[in-house]
Amino acid sequence: MFNVTTGLAIWCSEAMTLALVAFMAWRHDVRNKSYLYWGYGFLLSAIGFAMVALRGHIADFLSIELGNAIALTGQSAWAAGYLALDKRKMEWWIFLPPLIWVAGIFLPWVNEDYPNRVILYNLASAAGATSLLMAINGPNLQAEPTRAKLAVLFLAQSGLCFSTAVIMAIAAPTDVQAANYAGAAAMGTAFLLTLACALTARVIMERSERQLRLLSLTDTLTGVLNRRGLFGQFDPIRLRAFEEGRQVAVLLFDLDNFKRINDRFGHQAGDVVLTAFARMTRQYVPTGAFGRMGGEEFAAFASVGDQTEAEALAEAMRTEFCRAPISTGDAIIPATVSIGVAIAPPVEANMDKLVSAADRALYAAKGAGRNCTVIFGETEAAAPAPVEPDHRRGELVPTVDDQVHALRRVGSLSRG
Ligand code: GH3
Ligand code: MG
Ligand code: MG
Repeated sequence: MFNVTTGLAIWCSEAMTLALVAFMAWRHDVRNKSYLYWGYGFLLSAIGFAMVALRGHIADFLSIELGNAIALTGQSAWAAGYLALDKRKMEWWIFLPPLIWVAGIFLPWVNEDYPNRVILYNLASAAGATSLLMAINGPNLQAEPTRAKLAVLFLAQSGLCFSTAVIMAIAAPTDVQAANYAGAAAMGTAFLLTLACALTARVIMERSERQLRLLSLTDTLTGVLNRRGLFGQFDPIRLRAFEEGRQVAVLLFDLDNFKRINDRFGHQAGDVVLTAFARMTRQYVPTGAFGRMGGEEFAAFASVGDQTEAEALAEAMRTEFCRAPISTGDAIIPATVSIGVAIAPPVEANMDKLVSAADRALYAAKGAGRNCTVIFGETEAAAPAPVEPDHRRGELVPTVDDQVHALRRVGSLSRG
């Protein structure tokens, strides 16, 4: 029914093309090893199946034992590609397909019997599809919606190969019938693999979009959240505080006399101080959020039990920062920070009001001589902010989507 050799030849040329595409994608982005592994996967698959197709023209050992082993190693390389995509370490189970093949093919009742060889190949291939499923099913499964579809597809592929092996074992087909089984399973696999390529391209697109989104919420100098990223965390923290029966605290930090630090030690040394401050302080709010508001100003959102706990948190940050002078290699820079804190119960907590209250507390801390903490409780935090001229009125504030769009354009411009 199926001409296996023609099918193999079609697959070989398709796999060679895909290998070329993957290698070119890798050259474009050499840090992403996934493309390299996928390229090797297609190349090995093409070489292996070319050797299988040359059955009768080359030695049987090359065509049967080695050809299939090489083709199955291609599946290992594909799984390695998915692991590399998530920066996961290589796992032993990706080598199961060629290992199963090598373990079984030298048994005489397998080696000398064509249907049994097809069964063995399909069992090895089912293990390959399962390892692809395990490789795509990493910690980022939820991060990209298409990953789940890809996982289902690999499950179907594993089911197809495994059921082919089981049905053949039960039906005990003749050599001609076994060739039909092999051809049908191979065609199904080729179809599913082509679909997998398309879905993988979508996963990569979704992944780069997620990374751009993350980038648009990150401060480039310090690596902590930027103002927009930080503000996006307020509601989840407020909700958690509500569930835990705790209060919401906003802490505003402003490094003291920072202009003087820049003037005395240089702007780069100033950057080192900003980075050191961010690295140190973020550790104090592991379940909250910490970000850079701009310049030498930072903020943290946290849930606290009461005012005393909020004060203790701020004071711990302040004292550690002023006790540990920052080394830039050339100089030791003494630096201090003033902190304004405002707290409110989650049901009443409004981000703008709390930030504004914390800002007033910070202003009071500066007035009190700097390097200290001023905390506003519920009453002070609820007091209306003094009226200030609204400088931002009429200003267009870009949304996250605008920024992702802009970053994509920058990416394509720099490539173009
Ligand atoms: P105060 O104690 O009242 O806060 O005094 P200050 O000098 O820290 O405040 P001021 O607002 O006068 O100066 C802030 C300085 O922060 C001025 C600006 O050059 C510096 N700055 C802002 N962003 C950066 C940055 O990314 N890197 C460096 N090195 N300096 C920055
Ligand atoms: Mg300032
Ligand atoms: Mg300052």
